[in-house]
Amino acid sequence: MEFEKVKIDERKYVRVSKDELMRVVQDIFISLGVPKEDAYIVADNLVMADMRGIESHGVQRLKRYVDGIKNGAVKIKPNIKIEKEGPVHALVDGDGGLGQVIGHYAMNLAIEKAKKNYFGIVGVKRSNHYGIAGYYALMAVKDNLIGISLTTSRPLVAHTGAMEKFIGTNPISLATPTNCKYPFFLDMATSVVPSGKIEVYRRKGKPVPEGWAISTKTGEIITDPAEILSSGGAILPLGGLGELLGGHKGYGLSVMVDVLGGILTGAAWSRYVGQTQEPNSNVGHFFMAINPEAFMPLDEFKERMSKMIEDLKNAKKHPKFERIWVHGEKGFLTYETRLKKGVPVYKKVFDEINGIAKELGVKPLSP
Ligand code: NDP
Repeated sequence: MEFEKVKIDERKYVRVSKDELMRVVQDIFISLGVPKEDAYIVADNLVMADMRGIESHGVQRLKRYVDGIKNGAVKIKPNIKIEKEGPVHALVDGDGGLGQVIGHYAMNLAIEKAKKNYFGIVGVKRSNHYGIAGYYALMAVKDNLIGISLTTSRPLVAHTGAMEKFIGTNPISLATPTNCKYPFFLDMATSVVPSGKIEVYRRKGKPVPEGWAISTKTGEIITDPAEILSSGGAILPLGGLGELLGGHKGYGLSVMVDVLGGILTGAAWSRYVGQTQEPNSNVGHFFMAINPEAFMPLDEFKERMSKMIEDLKNAKKHPKFERIWVHGEKGFLTYETRLKKGVPVYKKVFDEINGIAKELGVKPLSP
């Protein structure tokens, strides 16, 4: 079945093959001095986002990582080290490297521990923006483990009752093996939307839907993406403004991420997290890998997961919805479709990437 999570206006996008997009992103990082295998990890993370229909965290974010490296804020060859370690846990110091490289290292450590001792819990400090949280949770699924990934992020959200950018969009992700074609895969910001989605609206020159953000001057709902991304606006927590639709619960989830990824690891929690383009952003992550066999045989777990997914999809359907989805299903179908049709890259982003490529002497992207 051909499906894409978001409807693409083909006149405004250029379709590029996954391999070509991977090539250019990798080559850009290599040209900046990033080791080849690390450049692959960053490219894989960004391109996976686009392949799964997460435009907010795909290659449209490339420039900020490039800028971070160029101005010396992000180290290309960090000394990533384990500061504390036991059979099921570790604390990693990322030494200010690329968040994706540090995240990949730390999640692998959690996976190795879970393979030996059923559980792996790894906290990370002194990292940078690591892209989509789900990238790391999915790594665990390849080894038939449950993966969990959380990260702190810079203050962009006004928590319930506040009228300033204060907490992060702090995402959470959980992925599990199943017997379905796709894993169960929840990957989400704890705010109504991540800032990347507002950046996409800004590039397209469109107002965002009402309810995503407030003015930091008046507290009123605002829809101008440029204002929201400036100091004049703040994103709302998941559930929106106030308590009626549960804004306080999104606020709580974001703080939960700060507790595990920031306070517990010794990293900055969102109020104090810096930008990728600034030195010492001190982003913190929290990863877990769980071997289902600690509780039941793997086959039984996968069977139970698959039955739950089938049951959820077969529930009595609301007339306003075409079908019931489960988390990870749309992304999986989008990925399959884009393998065949190519990844849609917004024209302005396509030109921006080729501008960066040209400046660094890298062969530009071709459609
Ligand atoms: P979305 O709202 O796009 O999706 C959230 C989850 O819901 C996904 O697991 C998605 O799976 C699933 N989903 C979508 N539609 C349905 C449906 N109808 N029924 C059931 N499940 C559904 O995510 P966000 O915009 O909140 O976040 C986008 C990305 O931004 C994430 O990857 C996140 O990690 C990243 N992020 C990163 C930050 C950072 O600092 N590093 C900060 C904030 C966010 P699918 O569509 O695959 O089926």
